[in-house]
Amino acid sequence: MSEFLEHYSLEKRNSFGLKVSCRYFFEATNLPDLLTYMQIGLKPDSRFMLLGEGSNILFTSDYAGTIICPALKGIDVTQENKDYVMVKARAGENWDKFVEYCVERNWSGLENLSLIPGTVGSSPVQNIGAYGVEAKDTIREVEGFFIESGEHKTFNNAECQFAYRNSIFKHELKNRFVITSVSFLLKKKPNFNIAYGPVETEFRKKPVQDLAALRQTIIEIRESKLPDPSKLGNAGSFFKNPILSNPDFSALKSLFPEIPSYPSGDQFTKIPAAWLIEQAGWKGVREGNIGTYPSQPLVIVNYGGASGKEIHDFAKKIKTSVADKFGVELEMEVNLI
Ligand SMILES: Cc1cc2nc3c(=O)[nH]c(=O)nc-3n(C[C@H](O)[C@H](O)[C@H](O)COP(=O)(O)OP(=O)(O)OC[C@H]3O[C@@H](n4cnc5c(N)ncnc54)[C@H](O)[C@@H]3O)c2cc1C
Repeated sequence: MSEFLEHYSLEKRNSFGLKVSCRYFFEATNLPDLLTYMQIGLKPDSRFMLLGEGSNILFTSDYAGTIICPALKGIDVTQENKDYVMVKARAGENWDKFVEYCVERNWSGLENLSLIPGTVGSSPVQNIGAYGVEAKDTIREVEGFFIESGEHKTFNNAECQFAYRNSIFKHELKNRFVITSVSFLLKKKPNFNIAYGPVETEFRKKPVQDLAALRQTIIEIRESKLPDPSKLGNAGSFFKNPILSNPDFSALKSLFPEIPSYPSGDQFTKIPAAWLIEQAGWKGVREGNIGTYPSQPLVIVNYGGASGKEIHDFAKKIKTSVADKFGVELEMEVNLI
């Protein structure tokens, strides 16, 4: 049942575990309630934001407006042939449970994105990605409605303007369009994507090399590297990996020949932000209740009791050090509220 609450604690609704609250909180479990609330319940000048599971958000203070959670549930097969299946999942489904659901049915395409926290509805927003796969590779349609007019729209893949940790929903349509469902085109004959990092070596160690084994491999690699937000507050990668033009990268490489890099299209080069942060001396650094995670400096953790503002200040110091040392501007991946 949909719920409307006042002065609601968001501590369990943000993966940093910050003790913040909001003035109003509305969780819609069905589309008519969501539409009605957005059209009638929300005053034209009200401050509001959409929230999934809060695993990519940094609240720097209590939120004075309304938090709206589109908690719509359901998974349906909308098209199928002998090779492919089109699966439509509602926005409020938990992402990893959805991946598990697909892997159990031997539908391939999402397994490398196992264990990423959050909801299905947020997956197109920053085009979630891991281990050589991005949500955009399988997303065919994103459905929802414009908040101002209530007009329904289905975006095809190209209209979503997907890019590295980016889409039209993260910028132009941020808090203007509510995603209500996402449709993925998955393969019935598994296609293992194991080229990235340690995936192949670990996958080959499994007694059976099937889709479930690949999902398990990804889960084990992630668990060995990343902190579990239920135990140690964090929001995954705090910064994006910077992308430089090839000439800018060559200039940087002449100063730092050991810098790791990956091609990003023909004209750009991507640098691991974790390497820049480590080289700037921030790996495993702890200041009070905040630090970079020792095995992954790109992750900023709340050791307990930190405020969002303190985390933001800590992140700004990292950004400044990296800019001073390398002349590279780190951009936040996490949404700052
Ligand atoms: C431990 C950890 C590991 C992570 N690893 C990865 C990783 O490997 N790859 C990766 O890409 N990300 C990763 N993340 C980041 C995070 O999991 C993703 O960004 C995820 O998609 C966020 O989902 P959420 O539901 O929590 O979104 P939220 O944090 O609640 O919201 C994110 C944004 O989406 C908007 N939004 C939410 N729901 C809707 C909707 N229905 N319609 C429109 N807009 C909406 C919000 O307004 C906000 O701007 C990680 C995070 C953690 C904590």
